[in-house]
Amino acid sequence: MFDKIATFSFPTRIVFGVGATRVLPACLEEIGVRRPFVVTDPGLRAAPPFKTVESALQDGGVRYELFDGVHPNPIEEDVVEAAKAYRAADCDGVVGLGGGSAMDVAKATVVIARQEGTLADFEAQSGGMDRLAGPYDPIIAIPTTAGTGSEVGRSAVITSHKLKRKIIIFSPWLMPKRAILDPELTVSLPPFLTAATGMDAFTHCLESLTCPVYHPLCDAIAIHGLELVIRYLERATHDGRDIEARGNMLVAASMGAIAFQKDLGATHSLAHPLSTEFGLHHGLANALCLPAVMRFNLDAAAPHYARLARLYRGSDSNEPNHREAANAVSMVEVMIEGLGIKRGLRNHGVPRESLEGLSQSAFADSCHKTNIRPCTQDDLLRLYRESW
Ligand code: NAD
Repeated sequence: MFDKIATFSFPTRIVFGVGATRVLPACLEEIGVRRPFVVTDPGLRAAPPFKTVESALQDGGVRYELFDGVHPNPIEEDVVEAAKAYRAADCDGVVGLGGGSAMDVAKATVVIARQEGTLADFEAQSGGMDRLAGPYDPIIAIPTTAGTGSEVGRSAVITSHKLKRKIIIFSPWLMPKRAILDPELTVSLPPFLTAATGMDAFTHCLESLTCPVYHPLCDAIAIHGLELVIRYLERATHDGRDIEARGNMLVAASMGAIAFQKDLGATHSLAHPLSTEFGLHHGLANALCLPAVMRFNLDAAAPHYARLARLYRGSDSNEPNHREAANAVSMVEVMIEGLGIKRGLRNHGVPRESLEGLSQSAFADSCHKTNIRPCTQDDLLRLYRESW
C-alpha cells in the first residue's frame, strides 16, 4: 500500500465574489504584468462581461491589447493569430476572458508566442509535455461560463483541422496565476449554454471521482462539486439572475477541473470527436454520452454511483450499493431532461453512419484510458449507438 509516490498540488489563487472583476488591475500588478493581452470571442466582445472587464481595466489605468477572434471549439489558427498579435504588441501576460474556448486560446498563446513549434509538437498524448519549455508569461483567467474549469486547469484544448481532432496540451506551466470568479459575469449566459456547460462541470466531477488514480483530496472536491451541481444547476438554468446559483456553479466548475487533475474517462473520449466532427458543444456532447457510459461502468463504479444517488436524495440511506448505483443513472438522465437537453445524438445532427468512424477517433483519444472500466473500440462504438 502507498508504494507509489503521489503529488497533491492546488496552485492557482482564486478570487471569488460578486464584483470580483474589480481586482483585475491589482492582480495584474501582483504578478508583474504591465501590458496585458486580453483574449475573448466575438460574442462576448459584444456582451456585458466584456464591458465589466473593460471598465475594470480603464478604472485601473491599464493599457491592454485585445484579441477577439476565438472560435467556439477553438482552432489552431486562433492561437497562431493571437500569438502574432501578442508579439507585435509586445505584451507580457494574457487575460483569458470567456468560456473554455477563450481561456484555452489564451493559455496556448503564451506558448506559441514564445516557443518555436506548432501545437502538435506539444500535444500531451505524444509526449509534448516534455517539449514545453516554460515558464511562460503569466495567465489570468476570467470564466464567463461555469463548466470547463480551464481557469484552474493545466490544459488547453485546441482543434487541429489538419489532424482532424482536438489537441490537448498539458503542463503545469499553463496554470493561470489567478482565476477571477465573478458570478455576475455569468448572468448573461443563455439557458441552453448554462445547462450544457454545467453538465461539463458535472461530468468532470463524476469522471474524476471514478477514475482509478489515488488522490483522496481531489475525490473530496469532486464529491462536493457534484453536490453543488445537483443543487444549483437547474436553478441557474431556469433563472439566470439567481446569483446564489450562478456563484455556486462557478465554484463547482473550478472544483471539477481541480478534481480532474486525477484524470477523466470514456465520456470525454466519446465527446471530443463529436465536437471536432459535428461541432457539438463540449458540455452537450458529454451530457448526451454520460448515461451510456455510466451503465457501462455500473459494476466497476457501483460504490461511487451509489454515493451519487445519495447526493441526489440528500440523504445517507444505506440501500444496497448496486441498486443505489443503478438509481444514479436514472437520476442523471432525469436531471439532463430537466435542463431541457434533448436526449440522443440523432437529435443533434450526428448521422448514424458516422458512429463507426467516431469510435475510431474516440479510441485514439487518451481520456478513456483512465475510465474505471477498460474499453475497447467496440465498446466505444456500442456506447455511441446507445447514446444515439
Ligand atoms: P465556449 O467558451 O465555447 O463558449 C460558448 C459560447 O458562449 C460562445 O459563443 C460565447 O461567446 C458564449 N458565452 C460565454 N460566456 C457568456 C456569457 N457570460 N454571456 C453570454 N454569452 C457567453 O464554451 P465552454 O463550454 O465554456 O468551452 C468549451 C471549450 O472548452 C471546448 O473547446 C472544450 O474542448 C474546452 N474545454 C477545455 C477544458 C480545459 O481543461 N482546458 C476542459 C473542458 C473543456
